[in-house]
Amino acid sequence: MKRGGLHLLPLGGTGEIGMNLNAYHYMGQWLVVDCGVMFARKGPRHTEILFPDIQFLAARAETVRGIVITHIHQDHLGAVVDLWPLLRCPVYCTRFAAEFLKPALKEAGLGRDVPIKVIEETGRFKVGPFDLQRIPFTHSTVEMGGLVLRTPAAKVLHTGDWKLDPDPLVGLRTDERALDALRNEVIHACVSDSTNAHLDGWTPSESDLVAPLVKLVGQQSHRVAVTLFSSNVARVHTLARVAHETGRQLVLVGRSLRRTVEAAQAAGYLDQMPAVIPPRDFGFIPRRSVLMVCTGSQGEPRAALTRIAEDRLRDMYLEQGDTVIYSARRIPGCELPIDRVQRLLRERGIRIVEATDAKVHVSGHPRRDELRDLYERVQPRCVVPVHGTPMHLEAHAELAESMGLSSARIRNGHILRIDRECSVVGEAPIGRKRRIEGSSNERSRGSRRPRRSRRFW
Ligand SMILES: [Zn+2]
Ligand SMILES: [Zn+2]
Repeated sequence: MKRGGLHLLPLGGTGEIGMNLNAYHYMGQWLVVDCGVMFARKGPRHTEILFPDIQFLAARAETVRGIVITHIHQDHLGAVVDLWPLLRCPVYCTRFAAEFLKPALKEAGLGRDVPIKVIEETGRFKVGPFDLQRIPFTHSTVEMGGLVLRTPAAKVLHTGDWKLDPDPLVGLRTDERALDALRNEVIHACVSDSTNAHLDGWTPSESDLVAPLVKLVGQQSHRVAVTLFSSNVARVHTLARVAHETGRQLVLVGRSLRRTVEAAQAAGYLDQMPAVIPPRDFGFIPRRSVLMVCTGSQGEPRAALTRIAEDRLRDMYLEQGDTVIYSARRIPGCELPIDRVQRLLRERGIRIVEATDAKVHVSGHPRRDELRDLYERVQPRCVVPVHGTPMHLEAHAELAESMGLSSARIRNGHILRIDRECSVVGEAPIGRKRRIEGSSNERSRGSRRPRRSRRFW
């Protein structure tokens, strides 16, 4: 194997939804793109947080030159607090992500240790031997950036999570001109989001949600609560507009949601948000004037909606005749806790509206026509599907092949050589580690040894 080649090693997120971590290697140096977690349920009261076992990288920590974060979603940055101590390298991210990370790092006792290098939304920067260009993509949160990695050996477009929304309402649109410009050079591999690769057509725009939500919320004569992923900045922005247009007061419930909003405002977003109503004032707002935005869309045990359903919040509550809108998709594996929360709400006469009932959610990931559009613009030699279960990855690979492009079918632990052709040249050990939410005790489930074990670097 030539030491000068460019290689990709996914240690999480390829073959599963969640805990994305991709490591690139060139000339004896490593670059990590994203460092995420995955959530698993452990009974009604506990959430287990899983993250990749990076023993392979930790053994080479002195050669890891940096971690670049594409965006703030937990499946892309939630494991920085767990894994940075093993690597101790600079973390590159935009201002919003830096604001978002700060409280988590402080809580983990790492506030002063982690060297955060704030990067611009567009533009080029260098990390070790990697010449990097950040390209903004639209997603369900702001400041999502794909990366072009340029080395003398090969060039890669690593997309991160993206969609081609012509009217995202908040944040930048996907930089189509920057993508078109890539056609003038050879992009050897496009490492891309597979989440919706099995779905035809285009993912609807965030702006398509405004009118249906205004109508739905406007029809309710009592309180309305909307539950979502706390990091969905686009949806918070949309709901602030819905509150304004329906004459309701926005009430944010959930610590992670308030943190996201604070970080977004510190980075210059959500500046039109109405003032947050203090919990003690909740009972004084007329029922028809409340638009509550809360965490708990996946039935998370400690989230706001779960605690409201269990009547465990002192100042915030819902009553018979109120409505809860689920503005999020159901993550596979979360059905039981979601159903439990919904049963508790229904027993109290609270109406539930889900994305299957009405237009209350759009995805932040590309469907098949958007994937085709990207590959027509960039003309990569090879498409490398990541960010998905085996079903998603296979649908994505078949789509690329139907366009006459080659594709690489890889899984976590595969070492992919990126060259005129992409091929798997080895395997690294993978595994998962876990912590229980609220606990710093970390236990390993053990690492799976690779079937073939060759030491490359
Ligand atoms: Zn994302
Ligand atoms: Zn993601």
